[in-house]
Amino acid sequence: MTSQLEPMPEDWQRALAIVAHPDDLEYGCASAVAAWTDAGREVSYVLATKGEAGIDTLEPVKSAAVREREQRASAAVAGVTSVEFLGHADGVIEYGTALRRDLAAAIRRHRPELVITLNPDDTWNGTYWNTPDHRAVGRAVLDAAGDAGNRWIFPDTEAEPWDGVRWVAIAGSGSPTHAVDVTTSLERGVRSLMEHRAYIEALTTEDPEAYARNLIEGFARETAERFGGRPAVAFRLFPR
Ligand SMILES: [Zn+2]
Repeated sequence: MTSQLEPMPEDWQRALAIVAHPDDLEYGCASAVAAWTDAGREVSYVLATKGEAGIDTLEPVKSAAVREREQRASAAVAGVTSVEFLGHADGVIEYGTALRRDLAAAIRRHRPELVITLNPDDTWNGTYWNTPDHRAVGRAVLDAAGDAGNRWIFPDTEAEPWDGVRWVAIAGSGSPTHAVDVTTSLERGVRSLMEHRAYIEALTTEDPEAYARNLIEGFARETAERFGGRPAVAFRLFPR
């Protein structure tokens, strides 16, 4: 018997989602983001790259423009208007102090209480090997949540230190602890993923809507089994 997931904390106003690529937040997490923005909370996105190495048939310089546009459109569907790109190179992001500094600076600018990122583990639930960018960015986000609050670490960022991050939530974790009810926002989760049309069309011959719907509804149904039967998005929550 798998244990039930706890509801995510709701006593916060500002969240910042930091991920490696356009589409990382749309493979499930966007339904939760839409539920939060519906409830009047502010969510911003920071992306380490423009995902320029993500479409085999499109050269990076063209791909970056397409994928930035698609990411902004998919964010808007989930009620997010603040979308920043940090300009790291897709596929070869290096974990290290330069990345931690960039992410700590972003956290200091946005001053979130909740930080969201994508699974930094070696694998997706033990089955598929994760990508180096997801591992590097996810780990650096967890570290930067602490760095942001320490004025002696990266003292030269433009924004003041911010020690107000109360939780870091990991989407796509193989060992989730919490979940968000997405009964009323699931449809926007589907539409948010569909905005990555050029990416999806290069990935599969399946109709983009059928592809997005199968995935997003499938994830939500799977999580529902551990959340009282309600369609939900799961997170592993690290309190700070
Ligand atoms: Zn990715």
